[in-house]
Amino acid sequence: MPELPEVETFKRYLDRTSLHQRITNVEVRDAYVLKGISARELTRYLEGHRFENSHRHGKHLFVRANGELWLRLHFGMTGSLEYLNDGEVAPKTARVIFCFATNRRLAFDDQRKFGEIELIEDVDEFLQTRDIGPDALEIGLSKFKAIVGNRRGAVKAILLNQQLIAGIGNLYADEILFRARVHPATQPATLSDTDLRRLFRATRYVLKKAIALKTDFNRLPKSWLLTHRGKRGGCPRCGRALKSATIGGRTSWFCAHCQKRAA
Ligand SMILES: [Zn+2]
Repeated sequence: MPELPEVETFKRYLDRTSLHQRITNVEVRDAYVLKGISARELTRYLEGHRFENSHRHGKHLFVRANGELWLRLHFGMTGSLEYLNDGEVAPKTARVIFCFATNRRLAFDDQRKFGEIELIEDVDEFLQTRDIGPDALEIGLSKFKAIVGNRRGAVKAILLNQQLIAGIGNLYADEILFRARVHPATQPATLSDTDLRRLFRATRYVLKKAIALKTDFNRLPKSWLLTHRGKRGGCPRCGRALKSATIGGRTSWFCAHCQKRAA
């Protein structure tokens, strides 16, 4: 499922390939991913305009289409972007294809169709209406401590809660907790100031490193949990078998030896 680093990677890809070209058509192959807008309306609003710039917040990507309209993309479980040169065939699971005057196209590919495409007028208003918290890479240490330190519940559930901090999903939450050596079920009240500081630093490190590696799992450091999680996986730090448990409604992988629960 695309999390902050994947969506940031899509943003950079879109910025690199798809800006400043006149949109000549929008081919909606499956209107299921459209939210609050018909295929006809989407085409009518975008035709003749250009994607001018983009902005990411959490797992949402906003693309400014002209002075007053933003295309909002959410990648759901399996969404991604693919830029196609003239003559290149779109993936079978492309749901919406933006066609440019240059004969190039940008495909919104989404096998499982949990993705969302919408047109909105105001990004801040959208974030407020949806009650989406600050972006995980936009907050400083004191704000992070204020958000995480004072809550009840498993620390992992707090990291996953998009209303508190936007952008972290299941895989990177596990990675962050592993790096910070914090057990996912830990109650934040039991975390020391040093723990919270380590958790904050781990959050920034993991998200930024994943972005720098373009979220290519084959290039992630072998010291990361992500490359070992799953059945028969061993802890890259101590070699013991990794454990899994449902925490915050999601399957969590962790090392019970390296990530001790605070007493
Ligand atoms: Zn370990």
